[in-house]
Amino acid sequence: MEQLAIKGGSPVRNEKIFYGHQWIDEEDIKAVSRVLCSDYLTCGPAVSEMERVLEAYTGAKHAVAVSNGTAALHCACIAAGIGPGDEVITTPLTFAASANCALYCGARPVFADVDPETYNIDPESIRSHITDKTKAVVAVDFTGQAVKHEEIRALCDEYGLVFIEDAAHAIGTTYKGRQVGSLADMTCFSFHPVKTVTGGEGGAILTDREDFYQRLVLAHTHGITHDENMMEDGPHEGPWCYEQISLGFNYRITDFQAALITSQMKKLDRFAARRKEIVKAYNDAFSEVPGIILQKEIPESDTCRHLYIIRLDFEKLSCTRREFFDAMSAENVQCQIHYVPVYWFPYYRHLGYEKGLCPNAEDVYKGIMSIPLYPKMNDTDVADVIHAVKKVARGYETA
Ligand SMILES: *Cc1c(COP(=O)(O)O)cnc(C)c1O
Repeated sequence: MEQLAIKGGSPVRNEKIFYGHQWIDEEDIKAVSRVLCSDYLTCGPAVSEMERVLEAYTGAKHAVAVSNGTAALHCACIAAGIGPGDEVITTPLTFAASANCALYCGARPVFADVDPETYNIDPESIRSHITDKTKAVVAVDFTGQAVKHEEIRALCDEYGLVFIEDAAHAIGTTYKGRQVGSLADMTCFSFHPVKTVTGGEGGAILTDREDFYQRLVLAHTHGITHDENMMEDGPHEGPWCYEQISLGFNYRITDFQAALITSQMKKLDRFAARRKEIVKAYNDAFSEVPGIILQKEIPESDTCRHLYIIRLDFEKLSCTRREFFDAMSAENVQCQIHYVPVYWFPYYRHLGYEKGLCPNAEDVYKGIMSIPLYPKMNDTDVADVIHAVKKVARGYETA
């Protein structure tokens, strides 16, 4: 048996590989440079172009580009009319922003449990958490796999809830052939550099609903409108006049970020194809490895995977997760953990949330680890990661 690097053996590779990395090419750089040399750094044509590109790609009627994915979620909650006293149901197995958006509006996030095999929010658990205060569901396409749209749609229709999809992981994924972005009442994307398409920072909300669209536009620019049809006062003295008609924020994206996102969108199908290739190689390689449990895939989702997560089966391994993580690191494969259940954080604890709320999510959390997945990985990188996972799993296999 190969000696693990952490025990003095030689690592599977000499150069560290990380769990995610952006891919910026010459075209992207040119697109950004063009904007930097133009008249508009913000509020210019590149932002509307990005919005039209996202509408065309997803099939949604409206896109609103914003400064980041967190701002997208906040705007979606504002557009959904969420306020103090309301409850918003989400998953604990996500980045904190999926729940924080409810807090921003003075509402209370309520955590529904996940399916222990797909790790996505379980519609039955959503149902059991609905009260007469529930206003919306923020469903996260965890790792990029689409949530159970039909079940969640049916629940939202039955109880009059707004279905907000946190698709920060899922741009490029389809559900029963329909693009993520065209399915929920509002869908939020993030363009952070670890996500599939990047603008450095950036976000967007997609919707078909006119009323949501109007409110999203207001929410991301101070609640200010230049549209006379929306103004309450008037007639106005001149064309320079505008009105603030609600309380909004400055969540605008710059034109150079928007240009980068538009340029990256041209490569999304290629990025997705490469991600799928790597996922298939991992699935094939790990399906029979003792100690490694794979995320279950549902047939409805044709997934552009953002994260590849292995789950450690501690009945078949003689190590802790920390030991496995450190052993991978010593092989020069830098893993990451996505995510600590949101309500475990001190801030949530101080709000009264307690451990034990979502047993499946907590159980899944204890064994998961994200291994490198990004389209720029070459075949050697992929082979190295496979080698490292198998080597470390074998190194700690219980006799
Ligand atoms: C990245 C991420 C966000 C936040 O996006 P930002 O652009 O970083 O603000 C929200 N939800 C999930 C699930 C994410 O992964």
